[in-house]
Amino acid sequence: MKLASLIVIFYLVESLNADAQITLRLNNYTSNIKNFKDTTIEALKIVSFILSTEEFKESLSKFKFKCTNLHSSRRTECSELLGPQVYDSLNKFSDTTLDIIIKKLPLKESIFDPNDQIGKSSYGKFKVTTRSWYLNQTTKSWYASVKYAAHLAHEYCHIRGYYHINGQKYGEDVAQTVGKIVSKIIMRRLKANEPITHD
Ligand SMILES: [Zn+2]
Repeated sequence: MKLASLIVIFYLVESLNADAQITLRLNNYTSNIKNFKDTTIEALKIVSFILSTEEFKESLSKFKFKCTNLHSSRRTECSELLGPQVYDSLNKFSDTTLDIIIKKLPLKESIFDPNDQIGKSSYGKFKVTTRSWYLNQTTKSWYASVKYAAHLAHEYCHIRGYYHINGQKYGEDVAQTVGKIVSKIIMRRLKANEPITHD
């Protein structure tokens, strides 16, 4: 192979690396909302696209989170949890396949649940459970996919090892902040008529 071709391949590989992609895909699906599978697939496409944007990387990089977002066993290695570190940790996994469960859950599952808990997921388990009332399409259907995308971004942080800190404050709590950033980017892009998915 000629040197010129090798250089071209090198730059192609480099540009692929620079354009980090996070993809969330649907595995098993169960829902008590009728005809919601397409909306779910659309939400996964939206969240995959937004998490892969430079805008998301830049927004997240501005934050400095509390180490209490990490499980106590991992806190010993943490003195500060910077946005770029969080971004890298989310970005380390390019492909994630999720089981999606949408169902009616009691408002409080335990006394520790905040009333407004809308979904759940946990570290290393590729499953997101969401309360159906949160996703019920009371408004336009496109809005359900957008709302769900932001929620999935939040839950994705739990799957990758971020726990809630007391008060779940924006700017301090990783999952809460990532969900809000994703939602802000989607709304900005929609207003500016910019795409929110790859296709
Ligand atoms: Zn949460």
